[in-house]
Amino acid sequence: MFKKILIANRGEIACRIIDTCQRLGVATVAVYSDADATARHVAMADEAVHIGGPAPKDSYLRGEAIIAAARDTGAEAIHPGYGFLSENPDFVDSVEAAGLTFIGPSANAIRAMGLKDAAKALMEEAGVPVVPGYHGDNQDPEHLAGAADTIGYPVLIKAVAGGGGKGMRLVEHPTDFATALESAKGEAQTAFGNPAVLIEKYVEKPRHIEVQVFGDGTRAVHLYERDCSLQRRHQKVIEEAPAPGMTPEMRAAMGQAAVRAAEAIGYKGAGTVEFIVDGSDGLRPDRFWFMEMNTRLQVEHPVTEAVTGIDLVEWQLRVASGEALTSQQEDIMLNGHAFEARLYAEDVPAGFLPATGTLTHLNFPDGARADTGVRPEDTISPWYDPMIAKIVVHGATRTIALSKLRAALENTEVAGTVTNLSFLSALARHEGFGAGEVDTGLIARDLLSLTKAALPDLGIRALAALGAAGLADGGARMSGFALWAPLRRSVEIDGTTAMIEVLAQGHARVTVNSEAAECHLREGIWWVNGRPTAARIVLTPGCVSIFARDTWHFDLVDPLDRAGTDAGSGLTLSPMPGLVKVVLVTAGQVVMAGDRLAVLEAMKMEHTLTAARDGKVAEVLVVSGTQVEAGAAIVRLEEEA
Ligand code: ADP
Ligand code: ADP
Ligand code: MG
Repeated sequence: MFKKILIANRGEIACRIIDTCQRLGVATVAVYSDADATARHVAMADEAVHIGGPAPKDSYLRGEAIIAAARDTGAEAIHPGYGFLSENPDFVDSVEAAGLTFIGPSANAIRAMGLKDAAKALMEEAGVPVVPGYHGDNQDPEHLAGAADTIGYPVLIKAVAGGGGKGMRLVEHPTDFATALESAKGEAQTAFGNPAVLIEKYVEKPRHIEVQVFGDGTRAVHLYERDCSLQRRHQKVIEEAPAPGMTPEMRAAMGQAAVRAAEAIGYKGAGTVEFIVDGSDGLRPDRFWFMEMNTRLQVEHPVTEAVTGIDLVEWQLRVASGEALTSQQEDIMLNGHAFEARLYAEDVPAGFLPATGTLTHLNFPDGARADTGVRPEDTISPWYDPMIAKIVVHGATRTIALSKLRAALENTEVAGTVTNLSFLSALARHEGFGAGEVDTGLIARDLLSLTKAALPDLGIRALAALGAAGLADGGARMSGFALWAPLRRSVEIDGTTAMIEVLAQGHARVTVNSEAAECHLREGIWWVNGRPTAARIVLTPGCVSIFARDTWHFDLVDPLDRAGTDAGSGLTLSPMPGLVKVVLVTAGQVVMAGDRLAVLEAMKMEHTLTAARDGKVAEVLVVSGTQVEAGAAIVRLEEEA
């Protein structure tokens, strides 16, 4: 086993790798950017090396700097985590050229699976079923359109170099093909520097089922499947293992196909073979097809660990340090059911925009595994994936595991940024999901009901008012004060005024919109109108949060502050943190309502900022390339005459 390794990553995955290293007595070296100097992964590691600026290209993607850090600290091997350099074969070559070990597959195995067209051709040869389609070299639009006609609509256009759902277009009618092809190629060129695409039959009511494989370079085994069908825009949201409705025949066929795929490329380490499944008629062994292989540890690997009891990072370290795989296929058992939910700093009502903020309050639930890279008071910065944690639960059956997931989400508490927690909870309570009827279209079909913000009821608003008035503890801090002669005060919550009358310690009447709520604090539990609530009141700077089954945040308005904020100032503000890609106007220019002013690039998308009214540009407050926070002023229009 290695004595010391370097982890070329950040966030939850760096922390998760360090956990296993600590258990195995392997010393760890973290690397960090300017934005991460005080991050959790740095605090956890035995040593840490600064490698550059906050942008990934200036730090976590600087292969040479990372290799130098490993040599300087005497690390023998580099674990790449996922994302960043994990699937970069040139980096693997450089690591090996420096006399270090790359904890992962060979550069050749990564190359073989790196492009979707070549991977499909290779898998076809190895006897693995692939999605019917065209994955040849001819990129002539006429030829590709002809291929689409032959395959039959609907078809999917995919960038051969694609990843993260980019460069992909669903085409339902031949008349839309040419336009879709052009935009897919454009996106592929921008994102991957390679415009080549392939055409695939679009599987209807598709399920995404992937198989975890593990190889030692000669032999491979599988660790069963994960169902990742709950997706939003091709991004996974909740994953589970095993797949609902899986039959022994289908599992055997998929497991064998995945092992064949891994052995065909002499695979070493942890990998995932992704299949698309036509689930319109139940799960059938002749209805799954290879999509791609991810040659790294996957984000959702914890569900596999939960049902097999195997630590995949430990296996990665063992195999990379030269041990052969000791387990036989029949040694690997499947036990119970597991779910993982991805908790993000995300503004769901605003269209799932990535958010930032300082986590003024953070509490993970008991009875669940929380893989995280942040602690209370840490910041979700605009530079990286805004993931806060992965919440993982395990139970003897799917029903038990799902109720644990619901409870775990209800007991997760985050303040200081908006999150997708309510959305995850709504999903965990979705009837079809509960019944195991999953497909990749489920979220999109029910998006409205899944994202409908639950309105706070009288009780929630009354408790928020108490929080805002500094009475979250029932007034304990005020005891001895005026001997609890009725104390009245008003606070503003959610744009309405709440009147609070303190009747005794731990007893107040709160009136909101002429409805009264009697609130009693008894042994730490707030009762509202005679009913106990599960609510916790948490006060953070500028905000009071109520954590009940759902989470509600109420901004505290300081009446003295209000004057200057809404003066019809003609300012266009950035709706989210991001990078100003281009500014399209200059001072003095006359614009009309709806005109494009600037383009902002945030984690996963481009966002055009437009003029709210007609006017003349008084001032442009940013230049292309500026990194801005949410609420930053971008352009100011002259005051209206
Ligand atoms: P998984 O199936 O493990 O969720 P994903 O494809 O969603 O895999 O991505 C895993 C990691 O790789 C994530 O951190 C994601 O941000 C990163 N990633 C994947 N594809 C891209 C891409 N095209 N550009 C940048 N990062 C990517
Ligand atoms: P990426 O590299 O971006 O992860 P994938 O090829 O793995 O691309 O596809 C991402 C997602 O797109 C899948 O999880 C699935 O939801 C959907 N998808 C891919 N191929 C098909 C297909 N042929 N039919 C239907 N859906 C598909
Ligand atoms: Mg994929």
